Amino acid sequence: MLEDVRLLLELQDIDYWIGELERSKEYIPDMMNNLKKEMEEVAEQLKDSREKLKESRIESQNLELKAAEAKEQLEKYQEQMLTIKTNKEYDALVNQIETIKADIAADEERYLILLDDIDELEKSIGELEIKDKGIQKENQERLGSLQHEIDSVADKMEKKVAHRQTLKAKVPRQVMSIYQRVRKGRGGDVVVQLKRGACGACYKSQTPQKIQEIKKGDKLQICDSCGRILMWDGDN
Ligand SMILES: [Zn+2]
Repeated sequence: MLEDVRLLLELQDIDYWIGELERSKEYIPDMMNNLKKEMEEVAEQLKDSREKLKESRIESQNLELKAAEAKEQLEKYQEQMLTIKTNKEYDALVNQIETIKADIAADEERYLILLDDIDELEKSIGELEIKDKGIQKENQERLGSLQHEIDSVADKMEKKVAHRQTLKAKVPRQVMSIYQRVRKGRGGDVVVQLKRGACGACYKSQTPQKIQEIKKGDKLQICDSCGRILMWDGDN
């Protein structure tokens, strides 16, 4: 392999990693935010459910008190029935009894719903507590390793850039300018392997003569179509 091609391959590998490090400065904080959001959401759900449970318990206790009072009142009305003198009084009392019975029935219905709700909430709080514990532990660990990763980006970047400088100094200026032009204009790899007689990047077929030249590897070979540097891959 031509020394210049070998150097460029090394260079493009470094450029790939520099690009990855740059991207990680964006996606690592994103990932960290998502993990934090997930933790907050579960904690929020748990808090909501606990509040609802508290409210339902208070409401059910109030209904118990109200039911006791209503039953007492009903008994009083029923006692009054025995001492009634006029039809008018009788009608009024029957009305009051019916009203209070209807209230008691509605409250009982509501009370049963609340008991079901309390049951459900207790169950889901138990499940949420387990989920919350798991997510807190798992996400904290992942946040720790992501923090470590982002803390090391600058250091890794510095090493890659220094290595790049050393390599760049070894590459002839003319070759370097081809590399930089293609990298800037096309992006991705600049040195590509020949694949079944075609450029490995743009798939333009190369002439048999050019293929022979690439195989010989004593001169830099450029794809006419995309401008990338072509190299022999050994077999194809
Ligand atoms: Zn090409």
